Amino acid sequence: MTSLSSQMKTLVAPSLVDFEPYDPKFTSTRINLSANENTHEMPAGTKMAVCEALSKVQLNRYPDPMANGLRKTIAEWRQCDSACICVGNGGDELLFNFLLAFGGQGRKLLNCPPSFSEYELFSKITNTEVVNVWRNLETFCIDEEAALNAASDANLVILTSPNNPTGDVVSREFVSSVCEVCPGIVMVDEAYDEFSRKELSCDDLLGKHDNLITLHTLSKAFGLAGIRCGYIIASPDIIDVFASVRQIYSVNALTQAVAAAVIANRDEYQGVCEDIKFERQRLLSAFNCMRDDGLPIEVWPSESNFLLVRVPDATFVHKRLRDEFSILVRDFSSTAGLKNCLRIAVGTQSENDELIEAIKTILSTNN
Ligand SMILES: *Cc1c(COP(=O)(O)O)cnc(C)c1O
Repeated sequence: MTSLSSQMKTLVAPSLVDFEPYDPKFTSTRINLSANENTHEMPAGTKMAVCEALSKVQLNRYPDPMANGLRKTIAEWRQCDSACICVGNGGDELLFNFLLAFGGQGRKLLNCPPSFSEYELFSKITNTEVVNVWRNLETFCIDEEAALNAASDANLVILTSPNNPTGDVVSREFVSSVCEVCPGIVMVDEAYDEFSRKELSCDDLLGKHDNLITLHTLSKAFGLAGIRCGYIIASPDIIDVFASVRQIYSVNALTQAVAAAVIANRDEYQGVCEDIKFERQRLLSAFNCMRDDGLPIEVWPSESNFLLVRVPDATFVHKRLRDEFSILVRDFSSTAGLKNCLRIAVGTQSENDELIEAIKTILSTNN
């Protein structure tokens, strides 16, 4: 891992001295299941609509800053007012803006790790104190009592449902209680909510709690990680705050056009999501069968498009998958609480078949 040069360490803001330049460890492989992307092809009708929409974009003009056309499309889909939507350059930008607007020196974020690493990164950049309430490291369940206690004193809370990388969901009752005790703002990150059961989403709690935000993205279920488009739903007052701190043109014209075209064709994605959920179940069963056959693998159930598994010497398994089979998964071995864990995105049927065979081979010969 690289760090900043010694000269830069004397020049950057003190809070950034320990920073390491982001290294996504990108290697090109035949099968990439490392970033929870959707590896299914874009449905044919949607593809045509996207091409058509792109051909009409006026590239010489600045984009509409608030993406009002796209906002309206999202609002109609999610059955809320456009004033309750803010679009961002990926969910990541909205997470950053959440910390920028509501965090800062002397303010506290409640985080429940192991979870998405960006929360802590953005907290550091914005000088926000992170209060970690750790999950149970066997089940990955949140310690709800401890979290409620910490929430009563937090300026910001992020709950991730389904959680990345553990795959579990939080209960809506718990989210409601957090919103009630927290004097600050509560964000539920639902980046993967299309893969979970509809009745588990917190979107319909928005009317009940004016300090609640839900975060969504087109990167996962809609397979649009490359265009960078996410959105939040919240009260108009909260949206005004996001509107005031965001980079004015963060969501470019091509992204606005593609996102609107895809959402208009969203019905075509139901089959894609159903297939991913079916394949998730098949992978889960395959891993459980391996365990029943005496192979050393543990897997957690998931409401998302990935599975977390634990295997002996995970870093070596990760390397063998990459070098012998050209399959890339994500190694979480060095993340606190996730010793020997790998996160594997659910791919297409044939990708998953290859993955299952490769893991079987590796676990049978790894000693
Ligand atoms: C992928 C992801 C996001 C957002 O991703 P973008 O590509 O920036 O929209 C947000 N939260 C979690 C937990 C994620 O895994």
